[in-house]
Amino acid sequence: MPEPLDESRFSSVLCVVAHPDDIEYGLSAAVARWTQAGTKVTYFLLTRGEAGIDPLPPAEAGPIREEEELASAAVVGVTDVHFGTHRDGAIEYGLPLRRDIAREIRRVRPDLVVGTFYGDRYAGGQLNQADHRAVGQATVDAVADAGNRWIFEELVAQEGLHPWKVTTLAISPSPTGTHYVDVSATFEDAVASLEAHTEYNRALSADYPAPRELLGSILGGAAQAVGDPAVTHAVSLDVFER
Ligand SMILES: [Zn+2]
Repeated sequence: MPEPLDESRFSSVLCVVAHPDDIEYGLSAAVARWTQAGTKVTYFLLTRGEAGIDPLPPAEAGPIREEEELASAAVVGVTDVHFGTHRDGAIEYGLPLRRDIAREIRRVRPDLVVGTFYGDRYAGGQLNQADHRAVGQATVDAVADAGNRWIFEELVAQEGLHPWKVTTLAISPSPTGTHYVDVSATFEDAVASLEAHTEYNRALSADYPAPRELLGSILGGAAQAVGDPAVTHAVSLDVFER
């Protein structure tokens, strides 16, 4: 049975994902709860999601998706949104990726880093994507890198970014969540944040579930694992204390 995440342990959160919309498939419900409680939340996306809209070439889709991400972040109280320069669909796991994430961790200095799921299959059985696997794995490693001054020494020497120790790492979504965040009160914020991806959602196939339906399934499903009837919606997290 997952435990409630101890939110008294952090006042600053960094969410690291591959694409615009990755945070909005559930995690943004927890973000809304955190920002409403006064916690500072920052987003770092490694790409602009420019390969994510089939009818639009990347040069057109990238700026649209960046704008949609800024709008969806604002819905849940986040104004600090940064984008990396990796190519959507072609993110490679490796030292440059780890360095980019470690740099952002040292810049933001969060207590909690939320990384993306890097396993092969989601709870529903769907296969995960290459970009998610690379970014999720690199985030786990970058949390360690950020705290070690002898890895990426250039971050100190050239950018003045000194080591930072993250106290908690969480992975979301997770089919094997150790913890949960009760988002029963912020479900509507999550729906609005996903709906803010207007052009992206419009280009999805007609039989793809609408944001409310999809989030009801994801967050409602996670709530069932909690086993408390008062928790109607939950975000599931795999939590590692460091
Ligand atoms: Zn994605």
